Amino acid sequence: MGVVGAGQLARMMGDEAHDVGVELTVLATSAQDSAVETADHVVLGNADDEAALWQLSRVTDVVTFDHELVDLELLEALAARGAVFRPSPAALRFSVDKSVQRSEFSAAGFPLPRHFILRSDDDLVGLEVWIRDLATAPVLKAARGGYDGRGVLFPSSKPEALTLAREMLKSGHVVVEERVTLLSEVAQVVVRSIDGDVLTYPLVTTVQSDAMCVEVDFPADVDEPLRSRARELGTALAHHVGLVGVMAVEYFVTPDALLINELALRPHNSGHWTIEGATTSQFANHLLAVSGQGLGPTDATCTAAVMVNVVGAATPGSLEDARHVEGVHVHDYGKDWRSGRKLGHVTAVGDDPDALHVRAWNSARAYGTTTQEA
Ligand code: ADP
Repeated sequence: MGVVGAGQLARMMGDEAHDVGVELTVLATSAQDSAVETADHVVLGNADDEAALWQLSRVTDVVTFDHELVDLELLEALAARGAVFRPSPAALRFSVDKSVQRSEFSAAGFPLPRHFILRSDDDLVGLEVWIRDLATAPVLKAARGGYDGRGVLFPSSKPEALTLAREMLKSGHVVVEERVTLLSEVAQVVVRSIDGDVLTYPLVTTVQSDAMCVEVDFPADVDEPLRSRARELGTALAHHVGLVGVMAVEYFVTPDALLINELALRPHNSGHWTIEGATTSQFANHLLAVSGQGLGPTDATCTAAVMVNVVGAATPGSLEDARHVEGVHVHDYGKDWRSGRKLGHVTAVGDDPDALHVRAWNSARAYGTTTQEA
């Protein structure tokens, strides 16, 4: 199997590939990329390099993805020449472009925050009128290319929102969205096989700081009707987009509804805890689905899990000290230490959420994370 991109997700796929009978070739931009260490083979090139992508598709049966910063038109052209992408370029549209996601999901009746899509200067007058009805200044999102909160702006007033929206429009479409009251944020990881079977993982709470996920907690802090609604929506979305593989749906829990924030059509940060905490990890299930095999069970093997991301501060801490904290699993992504970069994560699984929380954070701090407990 081929993977476009060689970041930490491809690296963690590589850790489990042989267990599910898959040989992995990654498309890496350099021999130092995170996944090169765990992959069987490497093709060097960028995700939008036609010759490299074609080569990857020739030396493997199926190609999947480590990130969504891809050129959909190029993928479609290569698919027409015989390259097999799973998920398909048609399915990937929903995670590559937030404006496609918002407009197609609202047309299909899925619950979303109220939004306005700014495509050209001609829409600016309509936007000004639309903004007037909002209770507060809206959130602005670049339709393409944003991740970990990059590309998301929170203007402090409506006039500032209009100025910033006009500025952002120069680089592409903008999703302008009502700022919702967040009780919490939860994520649903689902996996769909090529035959259309869908399994869901237990729902988790994602804890954000500065628009970036810093911690993931299983079980989610919501009641069973809400969990069931999240499973139901996640399953419907998987069918709607024509998913093959793993997908994460991020939701906003608001006082009146569960709203869809966004989708990632790949293994996701909110599912890292499944490596130690579930019968089949999200990485193994992604590889099983994409390679056309039956799915593995998605039940939790623990009653609680806490995962904390390690993001580089100015100076590194000690990986050894991080590993010495009792009862934690430390995942080092093998990347050079750089401020602001996701360098690894720590997971603690067991019975007592409070104790797991303390352990996971103690370990992540020893490792040198810059993230703060929310
Ligand atoms: P990214 O794609 O970069 O992860 P998101 O669209 O998920 O960006 O936004 C990042 C975070 O910003 C969310 O997890 C949430 O905490 C906050 N946020 C985004 N949109 C809204 C909104 N409409 N109302 C309130 N908070 C929001």
